[in-house]
Amino acid sequence: MTRTISILGATGSVGLATLDLIGAAPEGRYELVALTANTRAQELADIALRLRPRFTALGDARHAPVLEAALAGSGLKWGAGPSAVAEAASMEADWTMAAIVGAAGLAPTLAAVKRGQVVALANKEALVCAGPLFMESARRSGATVLPVDSEHNAVFQALGGSDPANVRRIILTASGGPFRNSSLETMARASVRDAVAHPVWSMGAKISVDSATMMNKGLEVIEACHLFALPPEKVDVIVHPESILHGLVEHYDGGLLAQMGTPDMRTPIAHALGWPDRMETSVSRLDLPALGRLTFEAPDPERFPALELARDAFRQGGTSPLVLNAANEIAVDAFLNGHVGFLDIAAIVAESLERGEGVARGSLTDFDTVYAADAAARELAASLVKARAQHSASRVQGA
Ligand code: NAD
Ligand code: MG
Repeated sequence: MTRTISILGATGSVGLATLDLIGAAPEGRYELVALTANTRAQELADIALRLRPRFTALGDARHAPVLEAALAGSGLKWGAGPSAVAEAASMEADWTMAAIVGAAGLAPTLAAVKRGQVVALANKEALVCAGPLFMESARRSGATVLPVDSEHNAVFQALGGSDPANVRRIILTASGGPFRNSSLETMARASVRDAVAHPVWSMGAKISVDSATMMNKGLEVIEACHLFALPPEKVDVIVHPESILHGLVEHYDGGLLAQMGTPDMRTPIAHALGWPDRMETSVSRLDLPALGRLTFEAPDPERFPALELARDAFRQGGTSPLVLNAANEIAVDAFLNGHVGFLDIAAIVAESLERGEGVARGSLTDFDTVYAADAAARELAASLVKARAQHSASRVQGA
């Protein structure tokens, strides 16, 4: 039977991994409905020409001429701008991969959820920003939200259908990122290249920096609280540098169940794509004797304050997780563009949460409040970035 599918964020790391699995499937198994990207117009066009979706959407309309030229004469329908991405997400499809990065993914992911079909969720920021409203939308539409984030996918599998309310706790593993063994002095001087050089996973730039600060794990704790309706006390994090165990469930009888596998996003994506069945992939198999041993350690809150910031934001509730996420997106972007240092990222997030009176700790009543608070939080974080950038520029001049 042919399954209709859409991929939001098709040119990204998760989007391309999804396309890889689809490309390996037998002819006629999948039919592409919609593909979206943001700026990579030529790459999007190349994929569209190969797979011939019903609709192709580019988020950033400034790059539309490239898409238009590349698709000229192909007979393929396309659009540009956020409304085109939303239109793509609204089209009927059995299965949608939500793999846009950041809060920009919220509206399109939500449009997919509202259709009431299967949504494979990679875009964790959507849940962090608007978790309660997001989950409520899914309940109302009857959509099945399948976690693609490897840790959450692992927990989902380890739960094996049992009610999360009946487990003692869940554990998300973290690789510890490139600075797991670095001193604070080294981290203060870290370059973009150091920060995105992830030891295990190959991912987009933003999530790679998030892994280096461990904000990624903080966002994932919030993501898990929403997905599994658990309080943060029941969501633990353990550093596991080999990234072989992805997530664990601990029962009250003392037993722990884990899902293991080679760190390759194609495995959790394949789980979501095949669900409720299983599909075969070409992911390299674990060679346990070759691995020899697996190691675990507790996260260090001093060098990685982002993890606790995220827990605090979740406990505060309302718009606080959204402020955490918005400030983090702005600070990571500033770091990637050389405006602030690596340790400034968590500092800017902390300051945004403290100073965001009226923005943080506001209540989340509907999606309009989400978008308004997101815009206000971004503005506040941008002003904090500017202050830090000026401060370090004057320090350099004075030195
Ligand atoms: P990426 O940067 O490689 O790709 C992001 C995709 O989003 C691209 O296709 C881009 O065109 C699109 N996009 C970016 N901004 C957009 C906008 N304003 N409007 C519309 N589209 C936009 O990111 P990634 O690493 O593939 O991550 C995607 C999501 O999956 C993130 O939320 C990330 O946290 C999550 N995730 C990724 C991994 C991984 O291994 N890469 C693992 C777990 C979860
Ligand atoms: Mg993850």
